[in-house]
Amino acid sequence: MDGADFLVVANRLPVDLDQLDDGTQRWRPSPGGLVSALEPFLRGRHGAWVGWPGRADMDLAPFEDKGLAIHPVKLSHAEVRDYYEGFSNATLWPLYHDVVVPPVFKKSWWDSYVAVNQRFADAAAAAAAKGATVWVQDYQLQLVPAMLREQRPDLRIGFFLHIPFPPVELFMQLPWRTELVRGLLGADVIGFQMPQGAQNFLWLAGRLLGLEPTKAAVRVRNRPGSVPFDGRQVRVGAFPISIDAAGFDELAQSPRTTDRAQQIRSDMGNPRRLLLGVDRLDYTKGIDVRLRALRELLASGRVDPESVAMVQLAIPSRERVGQYQAMRRSIEEQVGQLNGDFGRVGRPIVHYLHQSMDRDELVALYSAADVMVVTPLRDGMNLVCKEYVATRHGLDGALVLSEFAGAAAELAEGALLVNPHDLDGVADALEQALTMDPEQERKRMRTLHRQVMTHDVGLWARSFLDFLDPSAATATSAE
Ligand code: UDP
Repeated sequence: MDGADFLVVANRLPVDLDQLDDGTQRWRPSPGGLVSALEPFLRGRHGAWVGWPGRADMDLAPFEDKGLAIHPVKLSHAEVRDYYEGFSNATLWPLYHDVVVPPVFKKSWWDSYVAVNQRFADAAAAAAAKGATVWVQDYQLQLVPAMLREQRPDLRIGFFLHIPFPPVELFMQLPWRTELVRGLLGADVIGFQMPQGAQNFLWLAGRLLGLEPTKAAVRVRNRPGSVPFDGRQVRVGAFPISIDAAGFDELAQSPRTTDRAQQIRSDMGNPRRLLLGVDRLDYTKGIDVRLRALRELLASGRVDPESVAMVQLAIPSRERVGQYQAMRRSIEEQVGQLNGDFGRVGRPIVHYLHQSMDRDELVALYSAADVMVVTPLRDGMNLVCKEYVATRHGLDGALVLSEFAGAAAELAEGALLVNPHDLDGVADALEQALTMDPEQERKRMRTLHRQVMTHDVGLWARSFLDFLDPSAATATSAE
């Protein structure tokens, strides 16, 4: 394989390995917004993707999948435990999400993170053509930009963080804070979801390394800033990610989906108002907050149990990370109490599913729901709320949204914004959503729908790449 002109480096590959009944294996595209957003850039040029196949100890040679070069990176069982479940998901994840649970700091996890980041950087360096553009994704790979630049100063390197970047005083807890910031500064462009994350990073660079942001960078709003480092200007900006809005819209309008949505409501006894929560089972998502608020409304008689039902889809996630096990037990206990106290035979209040769902069924659920409830304590963006909005072609439905989700910046006008730490406030917003008149609903949903449909994931990718490498973005849009 020749070197690639455009590379994506991400923890996971864009394909999953299926084990077939006859014992053979087959690669299947893994669904996800990132893959579909980047596909035109990858296939339009000589593209490659460097990532982990998702299982430990798989030794795979690079291969080609429909014109895309795939470079699998091998992780041992110990590395999955230390780099992935440990440093990425039990150190960085809670640290970057407002320390909702205490981050665990372990030197052996950090060492594994360094070693694995080096392996990703080596794989990218070996796969890239001279002068190629490399786009590194997310918190698992924050050292890769500098490691890559060290070997390949000819490359154009971008980095995008999908989760929030924390305030300086939280980040400073990290024992390896300077190394991590230096890792990121290897990039030409560092992208964040929100202007606040970009701002936090610039302050941090100033505090840790004494770097003075250029004047324009002091207040990063929609305009990007920059910071001088190592004889280069590292540019920093906010690029809010989004979804394949047209895809969701189209799927929601198909007769199969509308039939299935009706079926779901009828299976649930045709509740007058159907609430929906869709989240990875993660302590940042505030699933307990909405259950407590619903309980409050039912217990006080403000909402009649006969008039309402809820589906809570909790997608299994990081089940081997200790902090997730206690949270699961507590949520399941709350669901049990709600149903025990307010349900009746054949008519539970909360239909709780601990499983993942395929796209068709998920969109049918979105279509069936009257009120989408999204109450994270902190979330980089939250795509689920945008997906719900994209399916509301008829402009009905209401969105209750935490102000601590990145999406709140774009959806503030039409959503009912809540502070998830204010239980009374969440209960009030739920009640308002459950009793909203159709005209109000329409007015709010029109604003939301317009915003989501005009700011899709393609626009996100183009605006980042335009900023990183204008020639790449132009080359693709000309096709
Ligand atoms: N999703 C999924 N499997 C499911 C249900 C949902 O993969 O069973 C998708 C959902 O469509 C959305 C993503 O998972 O695109 C969740 O993204 P979000 O930003 O809301 O949260 P994250 O899980 O990234 O923290």
